[in-house]
Amino acid sequence: NIRVRFAPSPTGPLHIGGVRTALFNYLFAKQNNGTFILRIEDTDQKRYVPGAEDYITESLNWCNIPFDEGPGKEGKYGPYRQSERKHLYKQYADQLINEGKAYYAFDTAEDLDTLRKQYESEKKTFIYNWSNREHLQNSLSLTQDQINKKLASGEPYVIRFKTPADEILSLHDEIRGSITIQTKTLDDKILFKSDGMPTYHLANIVDDHLMEITHVIRGEEWLPSLALHVLLYQSLGWEAPTFAHLPLILKPIGKGKLSKRDGDKLGFPVFPLEWVDPKNSETSSGYKQDGYLPEAVVNMLAFLGWNPGTEQEIFSLEELIQQFDLKKVNKAGAKFDPEKTKWFQQQHLQNLSLQVLTSNFKNQLEDHEITTNLDLSRIVQSVKERATFSTDLWNLSEFYFQAPKNYDPKASKKAWKEDTNSLMSSLINEINNIKQFDTETVTTSIKQWITSSEIGFGKIMMPLRLSLVGSLQGPDVFEIISILGKEETVRRIQQLQT
Ligand code: GLU
Repeated sequence: NIRVRFAPSPTGPLHIGGVRTALFNYLFAKQNNGTFILRIEDTDQKRYVPGAEDYITESLNWCNIPFDEGPGKEGKYGPYRQSERKHLYKQYADQLINEGKAYYAFDTAEDLDTLRKQYESEKKTFIYNWSNREHLQNSLSLTQDQINKKLASGEPYVIRFKTPADEILSLHDEIRGSITIQTKTLDDKILFKSDGMPTYHLANIVDDHLMEITHVIRGEEWLPSLALHVLLYQSLGWEAPTFAHLPLILKPIGKGKLSKRDGDKLGFPVFPLEWVDPKNSETSSGYKQDGYLPEAVVNMLAFLGWNPGTEQEIFSLEELIQQFDLKKVNKAGAKFDPEKTKWFQQQHLQNLSLQVLTSNFKNQLEDHEITTNLDLSRIVQSVKERATFSTDLWNLSEFYFQAPKNYDPKASKKAWKEDTNSLMSSLINEINNIKQFDTETVTTSIKQWITSSEIGFGKIMMPLRLSLVGSLQGPDVFEIISILGKEETVRRIQQLQT
């Protein structure tokens, strides 16, 4: 049984990279009939932001990628917040100590600072590792007596992992293939802190083990931790899960990793930032507030590092579940493209049913205090192709409800010539003679009249459109005429004539 987890730290709003990690985990779980778990990694109390957890849950729900197990959906592996699992971690740190695979370290922050500076002055970098650990303040250098005294007197300590001094590790990543690491390049990471809390590394692997996680799918920024994690699994005698590190997300323009700042400017968060951090003055709205459809956001995210290898770009969540392939995820960083995101939005808006779009449109009309007898679904149908957001429907269709008050001057100059007035009178005559007012009859009647009287299409179509819309843009003219009806069409032509 496949079990995967999304394990964010509640330190702020979810950004694009986080949601992408969640999505890839979700897709992988669903296509394997597996379980998608949300685990809140809140062991770092200094960085904790109240409200962030709700924000994460709501973002996942909005994207339609809810978790199966997690806070509030307790399964047998709960609780799912690390702060509520505090009591679980120490025993594993102790086990490693007892087996000589970890050690107490009593070095104070000042001690380490002094060392750092001393190394710097010799143009070297201080790393707490195999080369110097026996000379530092820890249980590898002190006698058992000294250690016991320090522990008994309550002296602050941390527990560090005793990284093997000289081994070659062969690691495997589903996306990157095999990776070789020399353990002598690694430092002795802290597993347990003096505040009685585990560090990310210990808590993360203990929980992945206890929660029987089969695949760890996470961002590339965790790749440097892979060696330590694999060593920890080995040291604790546990089988390691399969790992897959997702490629970085790059800035839309220029080089480099997408930063939180870029993200804020581009409206990354699903919800506005103020929602989490009222003090944040650099406000940004989010996808939800900007009117994006969750389907479009999910589709865009899926293509950040993955593609199906075919021409298909528009995917429903269901199609993504079927076609997503972890092995096809790229190693190279993926550029985030806000314009492409808009395109996904435009495409997915077109996929909504006319019924849904029309009922949404009705609400917009209410907001603009419009009452009308016109056929709203025909109106929506006529303009939707040019809409990116559903709010565009109103801007694109406003002319249906309100005869033009002014006319685009450039268009007027282009469309209205000396003989236009009399031509429009003939056109009105023609329109008055049309018996049935469906688009097809309107189209053929007017076209036939233009052809048989040899006037030339431009001479009629441009001023006609101008009088109906106020500009030379908009949907098919005959469709507009049919929707507006005979009376209103004639009235608008006459309005411009005089
Ligand atoms: N808490 C880590 C984060 O915030 C989780 C990393 C992992 O998935 O192992 O990204």
